[in-house]
Amino acid sequence: MSMHVLLVEDDRALRQTLQSALETEGYAVTGSGSCADAMALLTHHPQPVDLVVLDLGLPDADGGDLLAWVRQHRSLPVLVISARPDDVGKVRLLDAGADDYLVKPFSIQELLARIRVSLRHRGVAVQATVLSYQVGALQIDLARHQVLLRGQGVRLTPTEFKLLARLARQAGQVVTHRQLLLDVWGAEHVDQVHYLRLYMGQLRAKLEAVAAEPQWLLTEPGVGYKLAEALPPA
Ligand code: CA
Repeated sequence: MSMHVLLVEDDRALRQTLQSALETEGYAVTGSGSCADAMALLTHHPQPVDLVVLDLGLPDADGGDLLAWVRQHRSLPVLVISARPDDVGKVRLLDAGADDYLVKPFSIQELLARIRVSLRHRGVAVQATVLSYQVGALQIDLARHQVLLRGQGVRLTPTEFKLLARLARQAGQVVTHRQLLLDVWGAEHVDQVHYLRLYMGQLRAKLEAVAAEPQWLLTEPGVGYKLAEALPPA
């Protein structure tokens, strides 16, 4: 059965455009124009929803409220689309459990790519298998705690490895500063953003050809960091 996407967008023209693009890609799509309607569909639709694409500005509620509801009641990826381009809002949504965030206007190709990444991550999370990561010459083996660059082992400190592994587990998606600090250093250090600058600098120096122009360890200014999307397993 094809993946079922719930598309919550009150702009009817945009909803129809996105819906037909997603259907062309083989997704089953249910459109919805309000928060209340989306909740009803999530609860009662005969085909379970696999992913939600969520507009923030809805007529009956803020999309953020629907995100909170989904996080409480369902384990499925939520991709937020919004005309609000501010970093604070982005951070808040990612920390609230959005899997990804796209600012309008965005290309259909970008949306499709983000949907693939989000679905792949959820699939991996459900399988709970050990991950390995590879892009180009960079290979990360999370089980063996091993990082290879052009086939050569790279020596990382335990903290550097933890940070890299955290990013690798969500490769292709931005992880917020707060989330990284929480997972790598612990709750008492969530405000120490300078740790991240320091350790990302060290990782880039060890892994990137040109540390100032990273290919893999990418900065999302004001929001967090992202490891470039992994290649699908061969
Ligand atoms: Ca809207």
